[in-house]
Amino acid sequence: MMSPVTVARQTPSAESVSKLFRTHFGRLPRVVASAPGRVNLIGEHIDYNGGEVLPIAISRRTWVVAALRESEKQTVLRAVSATEQEACEVPLKGAAKSGRWCDYVLGVAEPLLRRAAAELGDQLSLDVAVWSDIPPGAGLSSSAALEVASALAISSLLGHEMDARDAAMAAWRAETEFVGVACGIMDQFASALAREGYALHIDCETAETDHAAFSDTVLIIDSAVRRSLRDSRFNERKVECAEALSLLRQRWPSLVSLAAAEPDQVLAADLPQPLDRRALHVSRETRRVREAITLLRAGQPLTRELLVGSHDSLRDLYECSRPELDWLVQRAIGFPGVRGARLTGAGWGGCVIVVGDSASLQSAQVELARDYQSRFGLTPQLWSTAASPGARVERTG
Ligand code: ADP
Ligand code: MG
Repeated sequence: MMSPVTVARQTPSAESVSKLFRTHFGRLPRVVASAPGRVNLIGEHIDYNGGEVLPIAISRRTWVVAALRESEKQTVLRAVSATEQEACEVPLKGAAKSGRWCDYVLGVAEPLLRRAAAELGDQLSLDVAVWSDIPPGAGLSSSAALEVASALAISSLLGHEMDARDAAMAAWRAETEFVGVACGIMDQFASALAREGYALHIDCETAETDHAAFSDTVLIIDSAVRRSLRDSRFNERKVECAEALSLLRQRWPSLVSLAAAEPDQVLAADLPQPLDRRALHVSRETRRVREAITLLRAGQPLTRELLVGSHDSLRDLYECSRPELDWLVQRAIGFPGVRGARLTGAGWGGCVIVVGDSASLQSAQVELARDYQSRFGLTPQLWSTAASPGARVERTG
């Protein structure tokens, strides 16, 4: 066990994370990489239904620095994070999940080092330092940012720098196969492939991506509602969607996914409740994503109809909203300069996004936070962001 780390208050940067590395490991790191968190503009509960999503990278990022070390006996990963009290020291060979934060780094590092062993020998250990200002567990994908930044840093260290898509896949495999979270590809793809000033359009069935200019500001509001029921309800929805798809396929055997079903097909299928509502949300939400893409490609902003339409569907058809989130959306759209608002992420608590121009959101946020707090007795957290750059290797020494 290594010494505890002082929890960070500073804003992270290449310098601050390099300093953390030097303080902890007594030398300089060889590479610096960073990757952003993300927020989804529209297309909720769509990734695991084979549809399309439209995230942006947010301005908050995770920085990872790393260096290799010759080791005589066991090869280990030593990792330290400015936002975690506990540093890690875990074997790289036969790596096993420990349930700690460094699993996200280990799940990326182990396959990369295993593959590099033939060329570089198998006595290499890895030292990593991490610094992030993405709040963990708030639905902004701090886990994907950590995995993607680790993938870029470690592959660059090994002399085989990955492109963004390979980094996204390595990160996704770490999260699903090593950490064991059955997530879709959106988070890792958004963190790795996003571009400043653009939203990333991802087809989750084919993994094809393209970018569409997005110049609005997004205010992210964490409702501070605990999501205790989230996992069980989330799994329930996944099962319901699988059932709805298999019933639809009895009539349309070639249907590739639930998202591919037209709203008219869903209505005509006469599915039992609540499968009819779930399927209708997925089908209509997919059409909303396509409309959103069409608008952005034409240089138009997202509309209230699309954003609030998505929220209403999540509330009424997918039944994953909460009164606190509904209140935030209704209150937010009353401010001038706000185009629309909706819950983002899995729901049952978590975050709402408000889309608009930067000055209007700036003045709305103080009132929104104050009124929410006095109404629900909960202290929300707010972050304002533009569509920010995706992951990158910052520096190789
Ligand atoms: P989200 O991805 O929505 O933020 P997750 O539960 O998927 O939430 O991932 C959060 C976990 O990822 C944290 O509990 C921690 O284990 C790990 N993590 C994320 N960022 C960091 C960081 N900067 N340092 C250490 N661990 C981190
Ligand atoms: Mg996550």
